[in-house]
Amino acid sequence: RSSDLNEDRYAVVESPSGLAWIVCDGMGGATGGELAAQLAIDAIRRDLENLPPRPGGEALRDAILEANRIIVLRRQNQAFAQMGTTIVAAMFDGPELSVAHVGDSRAYLVREGAIQQLTTDHTFVQDLVERGQIKIEEALSHPQAHILTRAIGSEPALEVDLNRYWIWDAEPGERPDVLVLCTDGLYSQVSEIEVAALVSEESPQSACVRMVELAKARGGFDNIS
Ligand code: CA
Repeated sequence: RSSDLNEDRYAVVESPSGLAWIVCDGMGGATGGELAAQLAIDAIRRDLENLPPRPGGEALRDAILEANRIIVLRRQNQAFAQMGTTIVAAMFDGPELSVAHVGDSRAYLVREGAIQQLTTDHTFVQDLVERGQIKIEEALSHPQAHILTRAIGSEPALEVDLNRYWIWDAEPGERPDVLVLCTDGLYSQVSEIEVAALVSEESPQSACVRMVELAKARGGFDNIS
């Protein structure tokens, strides 16, 4: 995108149901994308902070559905009729990690230097890959690479992908796993191998700075989170 708008939003929410890390990438004309991403973050924060404790994954899914309800309502205003947002979120609840997503923002797990994508993009090109019509390597450069098949706000009945994982302590001498949540602004410029190397070599803070710098140096025209 060539504008000065930042349509990415992120937040960390401490709630009775657990600790949530949230990344959103909004879309939809004029300031619609910024608004949708911000509405989603605000709705999720409010929902998680104000409701009594529930299992983390359930709380996270409900909060995302609440964000969807609010954005669907706001879209009845003509000026925001096209707005929506992706989400990728991680909820830490005791020994359990829940990862939820809608759209093409991604979660990756880096373990002992190897990277694995935990989420499956809700995109037109991902469907083509799954049907064997294009190769995975062709997906990002496809002219319709950024067309989403699912977004928060696009319809009242939203399906949220949710996966649960166990968390355990690293053994002495073992490197801890790293979880990466990002928008397409990052992974369209920085390869998975580079992400794996940077988060394995650097502190989380410094790896984030390096990844964003790398994406910008490559002409990243999109927002990067
Ligand atoms: Ca983006």
